[in-house]
Amino acid sequence: ATPTAVMVATGVGANNGVLIKGGDALERAQMVKYVIFDKTGTLTQGKASVTTAKVFTEMQRGEFLTLVASAEASSEHPLAKAVLAYARHFHFFDDSSATTENDAKSGWLFDVSDFSALPGRGVQCSIDGRRILVGNRNLMVESGIDISTEVENFVVELEQTAQTGILVSYDDILIGVLGVADPLKREASVVIEGLQKMGVTPVMVTGDNWRTARAVAKEVGIQDVRAEVMPAGKAEIVRSFQKDGSIVAMVGDGINDSPALAAADIGMAIGAGTDVAIEAANFVLMRNNLEDVITAIHLSRKTFSRIR
Ligand code: ADP
Ligand code: MG
Repeated sequence: ATPTAVMVATGVGANNGVLIKGGDALERAQMVKYVIFDKTGTLTQGKASVTTAKVFTEMQRGEFLTLVASAEASSEHPLAKAVLAYARHFHFFDDSSATTENDAKSGWLFDVSDFSALPGRGVQCSIDGRRILVGNRNLMVESGIDISTEVENFVVELEQTAQTGILVSYDDILIGVLGVADPLKREASVVIEGLQKMGVTPVMVTGDNWRTARAVAKEVGIQDVRAEVMPAGKAEIVRSFQKDGSIVAMVGDGINDSPALAAADIGMAIGAGTDVAIEAANFVLMRNNLEDVITAIHLSRKTFSRIR
């Protein structure tokens, strides 16, 4: 294709909300064999909300929720935001003036010390001199927290319905579990089917647990799933698909996804995603619509392939 053709394609892309940063990636897109999708915020809406919270001790529900919210208050993770919104709602009933900004002023949260975010796991801190952990099953297992059969069954139930279970321990006792749902984007299944029809294999990669990942993948129609992937692992997965010379696209939105976006032959960032992801990508999907993954491939095929 001539430079003019690339310019025209870039313009057509821009008009459709696909920002193309350079002709090389656009040229590679016509030969894409695998499209690897991040789950949270890419296939899903990224609007996680707490559906249920269950306390497994004598603790009052209000105290439980305030504890969890206090621990999550310093986290930027979407799950943390969902937990805070839920606890805030419980605390203030439906006071709409209860916002992140007002949390500090109203002083409803407990004082926290020794906070640390544990990537791919959750958060840890101290409240009242006691350790509190909020995160997934692996976090509890690694920290030596006992998970009863009752708790395990509850978490499994959540995961089988494509939800994520957030486990909470206080003073090293598992005190409760929250269930978080994040619905699929409306167009997700249609896009997956469309890619398959084009001869492109969709793959899903996520830091979330295997059971939830499989449930989401099944819902959206993806056969190849990689779960419980640590942040550094996503780029490794991209490289493993490239080993036989296959052209690989990665679609993601998070800070976690940026090494994988950079490693891919075509990095596609969701426009609503984090700045780091957008910087690492070759394409930016400004409309946050997954149909634009297909638009981008079609545009490349139209611009570059000799056979139409
Ligand atoms: P991804 O964005 O690919 O789903 P992450 O690496 O961000 O994965 O997180 C993986 C898992 O770690 C989450 O599904 C959750 O179980 C746990 N996790 C991470 N951060 C938090 C947090 N702040 N609160 C609760 N759980 C968390
Ligand atoms: Mg994500």
